[in-house]
Amino acid sequence: MSTEPVATEVGRDFIRDIIQADLDAGKYKEIVTRFPPEPNGYLHIGHAKSIALNFGIAQEFPGRCHLRFDDTNPVKEEQEYIDSIQADVRWLGFDWGKNLFFASDYFERLYDWAEKLIRDGLAYVDDQTQEEIRFARGTLTEPGKHSPFRERSVEENLDLFRRMKAGEFPNGARVLRAKIDMAAGNINLRDPVLYRILHAHHPRTGDKWCIYPSYDYAHGQSDAIEGITHSICTLEFEDHRPLYDWFIEKLPVPSEPHQYEFARLNLTYTVLSKRVLTQLVRDGHVAGWDDPRMPTMAGLRRRGVPPAALREFVKRIGVAKANSVVDVGMLEFCIREELNRTSQRRMAVLRPLKVVIENYPEGQVEELEAINHPDDPSAGTRKIAFGRELYIERDDFMENPPKKFFRLSPGNEVRLRYAYFVKCTGVIKNDAGEVVELRCTYDPATRGGNAPDGRKVKATMHWLPAATSVPAEIRIYNQLFANPNPDASNFAADLNPQSLEILSDARIEPSVAESNATEPMQFERQGYFVRDKDSTPGKPVFSRTIGLRDTFAKEVAKG
Ligand code: ATP
Ligand code: MG
Repeated sequence: MSTEPVATEVGRDFIRDIIQADLDAGKYKEIVTRFPPEPNGYLHIGHAKSIALNFGIAQEFPGRCHLRFDDTNPVKEEQEYIDSIQADVRWLGFDWGKNLFFASDYFERLYDWAEKLIRDGLAYVDDQTQEEIRFARGTLTEPGKHSPFRERSVEENLDLFRRMKAGEFPNGARVLRAKIDMAAGNINLRDPVLYRILHAHHPRTGDKWCIYPSYDYAHGQSDAIEGITHSICTLEFEDHRPLYDWFIEKLPVPSEPHQYEFARLNLTYTVLSKRVLTQLVRDGHVAGWDDPRMPTMAGLRRRGVPPAALREFVKRIGVAKANSVVDVGMLEFCIREELNRTSQRRMAVLRPLKVVIENYPEGQVEELEAINHPDDPSAGTRKIAFGRELYIERDDFMENPPKKFFRLSPGNEVRLRYAYFVKCTGVIKNDAGEVVELRCTYDPATRGGNAPDGRKVKATMHWLPAATSVPAEIRIYNQLFANPNPDASNFAADLNPQSLEILSDARIEPSVAESNATEPMQFERQGYFVRDKDSTPGKPVFSRTIGLRDTFAKEVAKG
């Protein structure tokens, strides 16, 4: 692996340095990049890095970025993926304008160029099986062996290749291979496969073709056809670059793109492999590609992650040429930063405990004013109804509290946010000895949450009115994998059995229930939450995008 420097400052990296140098040297008037997804799954956060890099470059330098579907394998590709990928790129905030392309649009030209390679003695039809070819390819320490079909005449090769195209042979009967060097140190140059027979329906070309080009053969030529200047891919293609260059040199392509490699994104507690993500969906480990625990863009979107947080994340991690694993905490930090800035505050009680304020008049209701954003007065205020019966968070009460517990306990006074000071005077239990209700008194002089005599309380707690708060289901998501470095080859063993916790008798503010807002909100002291598409008119469902950091410590400090 190469040892080029890692990214030095946010927004600057070795690829942008290369591009700047190329522009300074007058090599290009315009920089053309592309994002080339294979439509065989949904995009994940690793792709976000590649999208932001390719589209970002086109914004920063004079240039453009193409969206090109690398649709050369009809067996795994579906229209659903083509549609979702476009939606995801747009959601992330990027636009390819008119520059939407498909590798399949070039099948004719790629085919003609393959015939040219045959005529030039640079390609041949091989009748060996896949296993025989693999076996004869050699190893890192041993050269490969020539195929017995390697010395076929140009005429015979052309005839067989045309008959492959015409559909005369079954799948796997023959392949077209480049004739390069079976003793090359780089295994990619040992007569790589250019075409294979696949009698399969293609989402765009239908049944027109029954031979399909390999990634290696299609990719660089597609770049050249589109006038791509900098073809940016991940490090595993570094060893393919000599082959990329070989095709560009041997074929009459209209331009000469160059390939550059960067390190793919790896994240702790996360698997970023479409193969594994597909299996998670197919095997029912998650509820679909957009399950909020999935690292897919569809999952992150459903979970309430703002695209700006993803853009900030990929900017912060930078672009380097050495593989590394990024702490998922960095992603969570970017999500919190963005949501803290943008999201409105509301109250929700996740695990309700009933409180009766004994000295509050029966039947009385007061409208108290609550602020929507502490740092943004323009977000305004809203009313919350205070009454004799309330819900507080079960965790906010302890009958026998330890020393540092400042929230509600018998005899202790706390502030109910925006409302009053209350003191716990009694505890009601069920037959099992569990606390089911609290009796409290309030101090009418503390309306709004401050005591005129200046006395202080050590905790401020959220609450909701029992009468008008709305029942809701709240879903708390934890890491999908329990292992910080999940084993992609045996991922099921590393799944976190506690990745989803459903709180089915939570309560939310009426204003939250009524709103159909798709933006996440902060439920005070709990985290950021977003309405889920599983909501029904009778029962809103909210998903936790992310928790607040260190709630308990913050609350103690607040005093
Ligand atoms: P996977 O390995 O998950 O199947 P892929 O590389 O086969 O992904 P493609 O659809 O071919 O998926 O990827 C499109 C582009 O996104 C490629 O240029 C690829 O290099 C890039 N990409 C894929 N995964 C990552 C990642 N984890 N980090 C950065 N870029 C990535
Ligand atoms: Mg790929």
